[in-house]
Amino acid sequence: MEENHRKVIILGTGPAGYTAAIYAARANLNPMILTGPQKGGQLTTTTEIENFPGFPKGVDGNQLMNDMEQQALRFDTEIVFAEVTDVDVSTRPFKVIAADKTYTSDALIIATGASARYIGLESETRFKNKGVSACATCDGFFYKGQKVAVVGGGDTALEEASYLTNFCEKVYLIHRRDEFRGSKAMQDRVLKNNKIEVVWDSVVEEVIGDDVKGMTDLSVKNVKTGEIKQLGTTGLFVAIGHIPNTDIFKGKLAMDDKNYLDIEHGSTKTNVEGVFACGDVADSKYRQAVTAAGTGCMAAIDAERWLAEQ
Ligand SMILES: Cc1cc2nc3c(=O)[nH]c(=O)nc-3n(C[C@H](O)[C@H](O)[C@H](O)COP(=O)(O)OP(=O)(O)OC[C@H]3O[C@@H](n4cnc5c(N)ncnc54)[C@H](O)[C@@H]3O)c2cc1C
Repeated sequence: MEENHRKVIILGTGPAGYTAAIYAARANLNPMILTGPQKGGQLTTTTEIENFPGFPKGVDGNQLMNDMEQQALRFDTEIVFAEVTDVDVSTRPFKVIAADKTYTSDALIIATGASARYIGLESETRFKNKGVSACATCDGFFYKGQKVAVVGGGDTALEEASYLTNFCEKVYLIHRRDEFRGSKAMQDRVLKNNKIEVVWDSVVEEVIGDDVKGMTDLSVKNVKTGEIKQLGTTGLFVAIGHIPNTDIFKGKLAMDDKNYLDIEHGSTKTNVEGVFACGDVADSKYRQAVTAAGTGCMAAIDAERWLAEQ
C-alpha cells in the first residue's frame, strides 16, 4: 500500500462519519477519517441530547461524540486532524487534499454535515443553547408549557411552529414579510392553529436575558411601522435554513437546488461510482443524529459491497 493511499477515506467526524468509520473498520477496510474544522460535528455545540437511543437519562453532546471517536479508534480507524480543501473524483483513485497533503482512496464517504443559518445578532449568539435553538425536534421538549417564538417563513419554520404547539403554551411565528414562502398546505395548518400567532412584517431585534436564567424575553421590530414590542417568550427557534458543507464538491458531484448532495433513493450512492454520502450533507429533511448515524452505517456497507465487486 502506498503511504497516502487508503481503501476508504471518510470526510467528517459527526455521527455519520464516525458510524461509517466503525462499520468500515470492522469490515477490515482500515479507513482514514478527516476531522474537518469541527471535530465531533454539530453535537459538540450542545449539552443535552435526550433523543439518541441508548441513553435513558440523556447524554452530553461532547461525551457522545468522544465515545463515538473512541469506538471508531478501537477498530483501527486512522484519524487525521485536517480540513479537506479540494477533491478530485473525476478519476480513480479519488484524490483528497488536506493540509497540503494529497491522499488517494478507492472509495470515498462524504459526511461533511451542514450548518444552521442564524440571524447574526450578538444576543442570539450569547443565548445559543440557553433559549436560542435551530432545531425544534431536538429542543422543543425543553419548553413544555412555555411561550416560544419561531423565526422564518418557509416550510421548515411552518413545520417547526406547528410541531412546537404539541407542548408549548403559545408559539409566535415571526416573519419579515406579509406572506409565507412555505407550501399552501402548511400555511393552512399554521393559520388554523389557535396556539400560533403570526407576527407579520417583523424581525428579531434582540434576545433578552441574563447569564443565570438564559433567555427571558424577545423583542421584535415591525419593519413597516418601526414599532418594537416584547413577546414574553423564553425560547427562540431560528428556522431560516441550513447550509450544507458542499462547497468543495460543486461542479464535481450532483446536488439538489439547496446544494445538498444528491443520493440514489434507498442508498448512499452519489452520481459518481465509488463516492457515497451520508448524514446531514445529503439530508435536508430529517437532520438528526440518529438518522445521520443510520446513513453512516449504510454508506460503509455500500462502500464495502462496491469495493468487493471491483
Ligand atoms: C445546537 C444543536 C443541537 C442539536 N441537538 C440535537 C439533538 O438533541 N438530537 C439530534 O438527533 N440531533 C441534534 N442536532 C442535529 C445533529 O447535530 C445533526 O443532525 C448531526 O450532527 C448530523 O451529523 P453529520 O455527521 O451528518 O454532520 P455534522 O455533525 O454536521 O458533522 C460534520 C462533520 O464534517 C466535518 N467537515 C465539514 N467540512 C469538512 C471538510 N471540508 N473536510 C473535512 N471534514 C469536514 C466537520 O468538521 C464535522 O466533523 C443538533 C444540532 C445542533 C446544531
